[in-house]
Amino acid sequence: MRMKDTVVMVTGSGQGIGRAIAIRLAQEGARIVVEDRLDNAMAEQTLDFVRNAGSDGCVIAGDVGKVDDDQDVIARAVAQMGRIDVLVNNAGVERRAPFLEVTEADYDLVMNVNLKGAFFLTQAFVRHLQATKRGGRIVNVSSVHEELPFPHFTSYCASKGGMKMMMRNLAIELAPLGITVNNVAPGAVATPINRQLLANKAQLDALVASIPLGRLADPSEVANAVLFLASPDASYVTGTTLFIDGGLLWNYSEQ
Ligand code: BGC
Repeated sequence: MRMKDTVVMVTGSGQGIGRAIAIRLAQEGARIVVEDRLDNAMAEQTLDFVRNAGSDGCVIAGDVGKVDDDQDVIARAVAQMGRIDVLVNNAGVERRAPFLEVTEADYDLVMNVNLKGAFFLTQAFVRHLQATKRGGRIVNVSSVHEELPFPHFTSYCASKGGMKMMMRNLAIELAPLGITVNNVAPGAVATPINRQLLANKAQLDALVASIPLGRLADPSEVANAVLFLASPDASYVTGTTLFIDGGLLWNYSEQ
């Protein structure tokens, strides 16, 4: 039980990697705040999985891309659970478009959810930690695309590159408060964000061919890394990115 007596908020945990994180941490004793968009029935399902794993928690709905919602989400979670010890900024979206066709609406959506959301939710969380005079943990779910270009996904790459520098800054700024800040950077994972890709065999085969381990990740493999960074095992780890990508990022071969 590596997460006994901790309360963990996981944003975007109605599905995909976020749901897998909620379940994995619950298996280790964490109580889970399942945060997701408004009207997302999937969030209740995640909470059922958390309970089946032997823990408990609550569902809190909010749009992380709105600063008012961020403050509200933290306040409501604290009111229901008593406190929050770990924040996992997992909520993320991507929109594919050639650069010249990117609309302001799509740009705003991606940047607001992926970067502004993580930024201001973290701010509200750190205020809560300060008010209760406690340290804590922040784990961001970034992507290999915090480093690796991904043509036609420039807003997504900008958001993840921003998340990398946000994490590095906050690791330094928040260290005196006893707060660690790290990223996990998944490569290709079989989740709803990849719905289109998973339905296109040629595209999927080309992607898998570029992954040294020769397959996509299961969401639980990302969750295991989040568990490590959120647990006491990672007490001296801050300011770093842990890649969970089957070798995709630094794959190079001359054959
Ligand atoms: C993206 C996926 C992409 C994967 C590997 C992830 O960050 O969300 O769409 O397939 O990176 O490129």
